[in-house]
Amino acid sequence: MHDDRELVEERITRELAERVRPLGHPDRRPLTVEAGPTLDALAPFEVGERWGAPWTTTWFRFSGDRPPARDGHRVEAIVDLGFRADSPGFQCEGLVRDSAGRAVQGLHPRRTAVPVDAPAGLVEIVVEAASNPMFPQFRPSLMGSPDTAGKELLYRLERADLVVVDPAAEALVHDIDALDGVMRSLPLADPRRARLLRAIEQALDVVAAGPDGVGEARQLLAASLEGAPTRDRHRVVATGHAHIDTAWLWPMRETIRKCIRTFASAVAMMDADPAYRFACSSAQHYSWIEEHEPELFERIRAHVAGGQFIPVGGMWVEADMNLPSGESLVRQLVHGQRYFRERFGVRCREVWLPDVFGYPAGLPQVFAAAGIRRFVTQKLSWNRTNRIPHHTFWWEGVDGSRILTHFPPGDTYNAEVTAAELVHATANFADHGWSRWSLLPYGYGDGGGGPTKEMLERARRLDGVDGMPAVELGTPATFFEHVEAEIAAGADVPTWRGELYFETHRGTLTSQLGTKLGNRRCERLLREAELWMAHAVTAGHDVDAHELDGLWRQVLPLQFHDVLPGSSIAWVHADAEATFDAVAGELEDRIAARRNALTPPGPIVVNTATTARDEVVITDVHPPAGGQVQELDDGRLAYRVAVPGLTWASAEARAASDRVVVTDRSMTNGSLAVSWDLEGHLVSIIDVTHARGLLPSGRRGAVLEVASDQPVRYDAWDVESWTTRQAVAVREAESIAVVAPGPLVGMVRVVRRFGPSSATVTYVLRAGSPRLDMEIELDWRHDEHLLSMSFPLDVRADTAMCGVQFGAVRRPTHPTTSWDAAKFEVCAHRWVDVAEPGFGVAVLDDGRYGHGVFDGGVRVSLARAACYPDPGADRGDHAVTLAVLPHGPGLADVVREAEALNLPLAVVAGGRGDPPAATSSPPISVTAVGVEVDAVKPADDGSGDLIVRLHEACGDRRAVTVHSDRRIVAACRADLEERPGAGFEVSDGIVAFTLRPFELATLRLTR
Ligand SMILES: [Zn+2]
Repeated sequence: MHDDRELVEERITRELAERVRPLGHPDRRPLTVEAGPTLDALAPFEVGERWGAPWTTTWFRFSGDRPPARDGHRVEAIVDLGFRADSPGFQCEGLVRDSAGRAVQGLHPRRTAVPVDAPAGLVEIVVEAASNPMFPQFRPSLMGSPDTAGKELLYRLERADLVVVDPAAEALVHDIDALDGVMRSLPLADPRRARLLRAIEQALDVVAAGPDGVGEARQLLAASLEGAPTRDRHRVVATGHAHIDTAWLWPMRETIRKCIRTFASAVAMMDADPAYRFACSSAQHYSWIEEHEPELFERIRAHVAGGQFIPVGGMWVEADMNLPSGESLVRQLVHGQRYFRERFGVRCREVWLPDVFGYPAGLPQVFAAAGIRRFVTQKLSWNRTNRIPHHTFWWEGVDGSRILTHFPPGDTYNAEVTAAELVHATANFADHGWSRWSLLPYGYGDGGGGPTKEMLERARRLDGVDGMPAVELGTPATFFEHVEAEIAAGADVPTWRGELYFETHRGTLTSQLGTKLGNRRCERLLREAELWMAHAVTAGHDVDAHELDGLWRQVLPLQFHDVLPGSSIAWVHADAEATFDAVAGELEDRIAARRNALTPPGPIVVNTATTARDEVVITDVHPPAGGQVQELDDGRLAYRVAVPGLTWASAEARAASDRVVVTDRSMTNGSLAVSWDLEGHLVSIIDVTHARGLLPSGRRGAVLEVASDQPVRYDAWDVESWTTRQAVAVREAESIAVVAPGPLVGMVRVVRRFGPSSATVTYVLRAGSPRLDMEIELDWRHDEHLLSMSFPLDVRADTAMCGVQFGAVRRPTHPTTSWDAAKFEVCAHRWVDVAEPGFGVAVLDDGRYGHGVFDGGVRVSLARAACYPDPGADRGDHAVTLAVLPHGPGLADVVREAEALNLPLAVVAGGRGDPPAATSSPPISVTAVGVEVDAVKPADDGSGDLIVRLHEACGDRRAVTVHSDRRIVAACRADLEERPGAGFEVSDGIVAFTLRPFELATLRLTR
């Protein structure tokens, strides 16, 4: 044989499509079609006609007589709604419903066949079709909102037939498809490649020879499908999956339908194939099915019980991990695990976040506290600069907790189980030295329909082929059990310590600031509402421990990894911001009602922060007579109040010994002295206490900078390394005015206009305060620009410490190695600190996440203005406050002031609480520096116990005491589900214990 190899390969492709596949459908006849906006309003419709304005639903009814079929043959309907083969999930979709309205299966580009079970007579198929628009990749589109998407019909019905299926010919297609894939993935010099090419050629020759060719061709190929050695192969656990984004290029209302279609298909495949396993995350998605398709939900429940439908992840949704607060991450797990336990009797043992944009170093202990020691993610294969050196490893977090982590080496969570993927996964796997196992999540995501029969057929065949890894259909648990057995047998598992920083998509730390600020506001109010619930329990009121569950379950889905990061269409962000507003309003009402019931008449000051405070407040509420009060030009009042942590006190204006003095272009409160130039820029910030200037000589501070921001690919996702190099300082000021001259607060307001945008920056210095605040009000109108505020600092530090959930991480201030250089934009919560051993400067914020840390300074990303996928992203009015805080050694002052900035004292009218029932003593008080209380709440079990979650925030070892006014009779540690663990000694109503650096602890207090 001397046939040209490339020509033969082309022959295989063409003859498989044009000669072999058609043998699988020996008979076909067209279906009669009707279509309309509802099932009651159907009208005759033709194949070839257009249908589907953007975001609308069209109902189709297809009918025809079932063709006769030989023994062993079956009948299917083939419906092509006008699919584009190359992007399953990102276009129209259909759901087949039976005559009772039950969800039967989805219709997608790669799943167009519907089995016809009726033995004879009229066949009728009803399809609920969604004309979701396609989005041109990386280009602005008006399709992302129903207001701008227009009415043009987007799709054309391509095909509607009944076909008879010859299973032998169909099997031959799968045989050739599998072996052809193996042949093409082997090296040219591999003798097995030539042998497979020859075997397929011979099979095609006999198919061409006549009608009995199918059976003969299968026999010719059988040996090639069974030649694999059984020992020493890498082993792949293939787990069915469908990564369904909770919202993204479609709103949540469509995600509900994507889940229905995908899960109906999965259940149908389970009915047909008992070996099939489908791993499915996100309690929210199950909950939608429970609400909207209860009949399908019962079938899912039966398959969960049967071990085929596998709940994974233990979270409410696959949330972003950078942006939610630590307590939000906790609640993702609490609500997720609770749902899986209550509905299915299942506790998930692995976190499942294949697609999330980086993983902070505080996560391992959060997972561990939820009873989870395994973690699957894939996204870091997208790193643009460096490669994490392992696929299976211990991931060790800030506190030392370890999680067994796996990156599926196929570099995809949407695998199709092709030979090429298996070869890549095997070659790519970095841990052959100690492990034989890897995981392959396969199936089309996002409404692409999940796994297909073709994938299962390939998995089974490829397992037997020489040159392929062994392929086992299984679950994530199957995979981890194999690895854990290797570890138990002494395998030497590598460790990665610290954050899993994602070297791309850094723009998601900043995009859609309205969505991010809405989340931050709700996080703050949820914490305060729970604190008031704890006050009420302490005062002996009846409290429903679950009264906030519904509000949490509105916030948790919005922390999904395309919503909170800001990478969704306009519709999604409009919905999210409306929901955040509604939830915040409801929480404010609940807080006010509880406060009214608990507090006595007269103005009170509320401190929700962990520690006691003695601060100047700025408020509309008058204090009782006495003390020192400063009236501001807008009618508000400033006065100094003192209040313990986690409670309230009467708002009495105190005499203040410190005072703010404002003179010509400078102001000081005795701790800080700042001065500004004729452009309104800070030219000097002196820390009087430490006798240090904060700004490098000749540099200005708190400078607004605008940079052209045009990412190469993913607009809303990416900030490029060169973007901030192009930054231009906003210099001219429209006005500079002293709006508060002291003695309790000094304020200087600078108004700047630049291009189409403007910003008002107010410098605020309070008596007795160690920090200078910058209150920024933005009218942001730029397109495709990044707005930052930059703080050059005269501090020499190789690293900056950045606040993250339940801890802090160090980031390099210099691009020395490629790993350092890649961290040019990093995530921080509340604070970034650069420090020499005896002195440091922190930049604080109340709701921004993207930061640049560089040699001699910190830059805070304020706003972007991406054009894809939301052409109006970020534009509008926004308010955010930054602060600069010099301090001595350690981080305790930074953590305390960052908490104070984020939980400002509120002075409010008192209520109708009737002493002595009303008490101003806190439900708990915590004595320790550098420790932050994340939640105080009644226990979920309604026992009246209090749950206190706190963490060590500075990286030190701390002695902590927790005290409650109603004497604590028993105290223990608990997991996130509040199940009691090791008990504490309780002495005199006080619990004392030690926290390790960055340790997270959940306490259960019985009183
Ligand atoms: Zn995703």
